Amino acid sequence: MPVRPLAPSHARAGAGRAVVTGGAGFLGSHLCTALVRGGWDVVCLDSFLTGGAANVAHLVDEPTFHLRRCDLVDFVHVPGAVDLVLHFASPASPVDYLQLPIETLKVGAVGTLHALGLAREKGARLVLASTSEVYGDPQVHPQPEDYWGHVNPVGPRGVYDEAKRYAEALTTAYRTAHGTDTAIVRIFNTYGPRMRPHDGRAIPTFIRQALAGEPLTVAGDGSQTRSVCYVDDLVAGVLALATSEHPGPVNVGSPEELTVRRIAEDVLAATGSRSSLRLVGRPVDDPEVRRPDITRARALLGWEPRVPWREGLARTVDWFREQARVPA
Ligand code: NAD
Repeated sequence: MPVRPLAPSHARAGAGRAVVTGGAGFLGSHLCTALVRGGWDVVCLDSFLTGGAANVAHLVDEPTFHLRRCDLVDFVHVPGAVDLVLHFASPASPVDYLQLPIETLKVGAVGTLHALGLAREKGARLVLASTSEVYGDPQVHPQPEDYWGHVNPVGPRGVYDEAKRYAEALTTAYRTAHGTDTAIVRIFNTYGPRMRPHDGRAIPTFIRQALAGEPLTVAGDGSQTRSVCYVDDLVAGVLALATSEHPGPVNVGSPEELTVRRIAEDVLAATGSRSSLRLVGRPVDDPEVRRPDITRARALLGWEPRVPWREGLARTVDWFREQARVPA
């Protein structure tokens, strides 16, 4: 399918007007930055549930950036034309969604309903941030988009996995029933600057522990795998999908599979830390393997990750070191 430039419904010097829900979060803030740099007028909607204004502090003086505090579950109102909605609002790390199970289900359901309503009202294209977690603990490896997944709806992770599966179904229904221009991106583990040191995900946890000289807590025996994508690559993939006509779902992630133990060892090397590894219990329903099949993203979007793991890790460690020097 051809990649088309988004046609702004109102003529501006820039590329168009985008709404980013969850724009003050980790991924959302990088998307806002890329859009502003690309000439877009950007409205960032966020309740600051798991993100914060500090993530977009570097943008607030830009005349084309507008930060609005808003809980997507309550309502969404954006005056004026909108060409693109990037719907990224949702708790995303296991620590967050296990503490916020109802909020996670609500934003995946009601929040997605409101984001789709906004896109429909404005005639905008909407990209739903879905997740590799829709594949659950997969029985097909690597995971292509036509794999339906292996999810436990009543396990602790069900609140996130099923919220996203419902959000995918709702997005598809808006496309078929209302003709709304939608796309679904299934994001695999992404890392980079602005991850929170205590968000519970492996890479920020390991970096925080390594910099503090504490043991790195590796779940299980560390042989389970993850495929980790640097945030700049993720942003490029999402924007390639946003500016195409493809409905998805499209996997965006790195096909380079690393064991969790290897990630921990590489963090030790990147930080120069002399911390040890400490094996701790595996979380319930923790996936054994995780790797995207990115054939579709390559073929339809011409996208693949470019930042090598060690380089992305070095950039992330630099950012964590910098944060440790700046008083909060
Ligand atoms: P994050 O927690 O840093 O960002 C999510 C943002 O959404 C936060 O700023 C939060 O305050 C906001 N938010 C939550 N509920 C809201 C609500 N009801 N109304 C308005 N704002 C709300 O998480 P992230 O890692 O940046 O993830 C962003 C999106 O990408 C999520 O939808 C997540 O499911 C998806 N995703 C992320 C990854 C990853 O590796 N980071 C992987 C797969 C999918």
